[in-house]
Amino acid sequence: MPPGASRVCLCPEIGYHASVPQVSATEPQAVPDVNRRRFLATCACAAASTVLGPVLAPADAAAGLALFLAPQPGLCDGHIRDYLEKMHHFDERHADDVYLADADRPVFASALRRLQRLQRVVGFGNFYLIGFDEAVRFAERSAAVEPFTRRELDFMDRVFHEDAARYGFYGVKPLTQMTAPIRKDKAVKVPGTGNYLYRGRPLETYRQLRRDVGKRAVLTSGIRSVMKQFLLFFDKIRDADGNLSRASRSLAPPGYSFHGVGDFDVGQIGYGPDNFTERFVSTEVFHRLTDLGYVNLRYPNGNLLGVRFEPWHIKVGESA
Ligand SMILES: [Zn+2]
Repeated sequence: MPPGASRVCLCPEIGYHASVPQVSATEPQAVPDVNRRRFLATCACAAASTVLGPVLAPADAAAGLALFLAPQPGLCDGHIRDYLEKMHHFDERHADDVYLADADRPVFASALRRLQRLQRVVGFGNFYLIGFDEAVRFAERSAAVEPFTRRELDFMDRVFHEDAARYGFYGVKPLTQMTAPIRKDKAVKVPGTGNYLYRGRPLETYRQLRRDVGKRAVLTSGIRSVMKQFLLFFDKIRDADGNLSRASRSLAPPGYSFHGVGDFDVGQIGYGPDNFTERFVSTEVFHRLTDLGYVNLRYPNGNLLGVRFEPWHIKVGESA
């Protein structure tokens, strides 16, 4: 067991939050309306389900949820089956998916184009570390980017502050301040990867991991600024034809990603885009991570947070 391994685990992007505080027994208002009721029904079913054994619900969430809903066997099976089916086919359309409002599509498109121009001009590496205010000021000074409009900024503010449970993402939010700057003096560029990690536990964890697992293990995604997460999330929404639910099943919305606070992704050199698919579990790197105790599949395939299985995501920090 490597030093610090007990604090490290492989998890879904938002698996960190699997205690699901939004649906705790003491805060029944935290996840709104129909989506919340549907989620509660699903989780209560999962907690009570015996016929669907592989489903793993966080114990505290299950305990809280049991106070809300008494499981109803017929309904229960249907709910959990539908949910798991949806997560398995995360990148497809589903009947209850929530879409971008038609009225927001123009401002969404212009904000996305501006973010793309901004990344091009700022540089791919620098964009990982750029703060929100810094990016806005940069755009104001750049003829190639041009200033964000009031409507674009209002739209991004709304996206950031909205409860993502509305469209099916149930993780909590490590970044609550959209304009919080990244401490660049604490960020280190990891040679040969194009990515950054924070000094301290994230960097030490990565170095130890490579010493233990071998040089075939490589950082595939490190620190991401809020602006980077906006760009990634908006790209997903565009690729999903405005489907917010589909986008958030495979990418945390801005503010909800733990890449902003120390988590990172690991892959196997030469495995390319497959490092971000479930095929990663068949790699030598993944097997080594598992054998050495780096992997804690607390929230594996079948997590109840509205997110696909992400076996490449390394969790770092106090909550791990
Ligand atoms: Zn990740």
